[in-house]
Formats: sequence, C-alpha cells, structure tokens
Amino acid sequence: MTTRQRLCILGATGSIGTSTLDVVARHPDRFEVVALTGHARVPELLAQLRQWQPRFAAMSDPAAAAELRRQVREAGLPTEVLEGPQALVELAAHEDVDSVMAAIVGAAGLPACMAAALAGKRLLLANKEALVVGGAQFMAAVRQGGAQLLPIDSEHSAIFQCLPEDRGTWAQRIDHIVLTASGGPFRQRDPASLADVTPDQACAHPNWVMGRKISVDSATMMNKALEVIEARWLFDLQPEQVQVVIHPQSIVHSMVVCRDQSVLAQMGTPDMRVPIAYGLSFPARIASGAQALNFLSLPPLTFEAPERSRFPGLFLAWDALRGPHGSTAVLNAANEEAVAAFLDGRLGFNAIHQANAATLEALPPKLDLQAPVEALLALDQEARAVARAVIATLQR
Ligand code: NAD
Ligand code: MG
Repeated sequence: MTTRQRLCILGATGSIGTSTLDVVARHPDRFEVVALTGHARVPELLAQLRQWQPRFAAMSDPAAAAELRRQVREAGLPTEVLEGPQALVELAAHEDVDSVMAAIVGAAGLPACMAAALAGKRLLLANKEALVVGGAQFMAAVRQGGAQLLPIDSEHSAIFQCLPEDRGTWAQRIDHIVLTASGGPFRQRDPASLADVTPDQACAHPNWVMGRKISVDSATMMNKALEVIEARWLFDLQPEQVQVVIHPQSIVHSMVVCRDQSVLAQMGTPDMRVPIAYGLSFPARIASGAQALNFLSLPPLTFEAPERSRFPGLFLAWDALRGPHGSTAVLNAANEEAVAAFLDGRLGFNAIHQANAATLEALPPKLDLQAPVEALLALDQEARAVARAVIATLQR
C-alpha cells in the first residue's frame, strides 16, 4: 500500500486553493487533506471543513477564527481551529504535513513559505509575491531545509516541465526563457482611455478566472513583472535571460530557448489545474480535470511584443532586479498598496504604475545581501508607508 501525501493548503478558500481541492478530490487514494487555511471568509472555509474534515484549520484573522471555531463546534466537526498569522506558520511546518500548497495572495504569505522551506517540505508555490519579496533568502531557506520547491504559476510550471529533472544541467542548457503573457483585458485599448476603467472591467480577464489582485496585475502586466522576478529566482537566471512575449490565446504557457536554439514549449488549455496537478504528482502525471487541447479547432497562435507605452509596469521588473538588493520587495509592496487602493476606488488605473515607479525611486533600499527575512519584512512595511504617501498625492 502506498502512503498518501499529507497536504496543508494555505489560502484554501481562494481561486488556487479551490482548484487544488478540485484536483485532490479526483485522487482520494493519493492525497490526504490535513490542514486548510483562510483569511477572514468564514462560510467558505466552513463549507470546506464540512467536506474534507481535516485535522486542522486556521484563519489569519483572529475574530474570524473565533467565529469559525464556534461554528465548527456547533456542526460537530472534528477540526481543531487555530488563529492568527503564526498558526499558518506552524501548520506549514507541522510534522504531519508532507506538502504545502502556498496559495495566499501577497507578501503576507512569506513567513509561512519560509517555515515550509526550512522544514524541508514539498512546497508548491503559487504565492509569487513571497518569492519576489524573499528572493535570495527564500532560495537559501529552500536549500537549507532541503525542501522541494515546485512552481505552480502556469508559466513557471511550463518552464519547469521543459527542463530535465536534474537541476545541475539547467545553467548549461538554458540560453534564455520566454514567458508568455495574455496581455489582459486592455491589450488593444487606447492607453489614453485607461484612466477611467473600473475594478470590474480590470478583473474581467479574457482567458483565466482568478482572484482580484492577480486579475488587476494581469491588466497592468505587473503580474508578468512579478513573474520575471519569480523566474529569476526559480531558475537562477540573469535578468536579461528572462524575456516576455504577448500571446493572447494563452495556449503556449512559456518556452525555454536552449543554447543550440532548440525551443521547448509547454502547451495546454488555460486551466490552473494542470500546473497544480503536476506540482502535486511530480514526477508522475495524474488526471487534472482539464479539457483536452483540440489542435483542429484552435485559433491561430499569435505573438507580439509588449509595448512600453501600454504596459510600462512590466519594465519595472528589470529595473528592480538590477537595483540595490531589496528593490523587488519595494516594488511588490508598492504594487500591493496601489492595487488595493485601485480596488477601493481611491486610485485611478493608470496611477498604479505611477505609484509603483515613484515608490521604487523614493526608496532605494540599503540592505546587505545576507539580510535576514525579518529585514525584508521590515522593508516591506517601510515601502508600504512610502507607497501610501505617494498614493495620497495621486488620489482621484
Ligand atoms: P485569491 O484572492 O482567490 O485567494 C487568496 C487566498 O489567500 C484566500 O484563501 C485568502 O483567504 C487568503 N489570504 C488573503 N490575504 C491573506 C492574509 N493576509 N493572510 C493569510 N491568508 C490570506 O487569490 P488567487 O487568485 O487564488 O491567488 C493566490 C496566489 O496564487 C497569488 O499569489 C497569485 O498571484 C497566485 N496565482 C494565482 C493564479 C490564479 O489563476 N488564480 C495563477 C497563478 C498564480
Ligand atoms: Mg502566471
């Protein structure tokens, strides 16, 4: 009998979290759900606890956790409910957990990711902001803990799927990589007309249904900027070895260009359950629930360059990677604040980029290369304060 992989899903109530549970439900013989976490949405997490009956649940918002605990008791469920951000850290490193799906949105997920890395877990990383903030320290924790880091972002999963299992060969093999981007909902709109777009328009992505923060990031292409930084760390590349091309059909999920100019691409219907299933089953392959790709009914696959005038935020990725250590954490913090302000109706869509660029310029970090992750989290807080001040001056 094979033993089942014991899972902790951080951010279980979100888009990636629910897609993960959808894949897991197809393979009861392979996976056991040990812990599910959410932030503040009690009804969603309670429904998951009813279905999965895990040993543990946690909510980072303590008041929500108290309410969930009350309802769990009332429903007679077996789950122990923990509370606060520290509970997520404890569950990510728990001895009865083999694999951690990191599907929290934002830098808030970094402490739990670090804990999973240091505890040597199999770490399925959707939470790209954690790696953008953690950078070298995150990767050092993975090595120190002997963790297995598996990318869930579809582009990074594509690159990973195009590479051999032996990481030692990657540097010799890769000339550069090309991340594909859909271009989001505003790819063909006049950039001058974007000042007035609403949050709902920005979140209406043509090819993917996702959480609101990443949907706004896709519309500005800051999502791709974060992914360039993420790829730099996952695959140990120089900034100029990471390139981006717009591919509106989202069928080719990314490409590796080898030294000999052979190009390897990974394709499939746009469905996050494919990279999630691969992360869960690697190196094996399991059913994901995704639709088959029908080559005979595909639209033409097209590729175009991202224009700086339309997507200026994308280019901040390389600026930040070449800037002083910690610059990518500053960029991420600014963007989280700017997106929250946009979703709240406090900031115009075009002003997201202005806020990010101005914050990056106002706060060149002075961190040494060995700075601990606590210093990066302090820098994250400092950058948020600077960004909020910048945003106040840009307010509608
Ligand atoms: P989402 O908003 O749908 O879900 C976010 C989850 O994080 C929820 O469970 C929420 O409760 C939890 N959360 C939010 N704030 C928290 C906090 N402060 N502390 C603890 N938990 C918190 O987001 P999503 O679309 O599922 O994205 C999750 C991550 O995966 C993001 O980093 C995103 O960039 C990445 N990602 C998502 C997709 C996608 O298709 N949705 C694709 C690639 C990468
Ligand atoms: Mg992606």
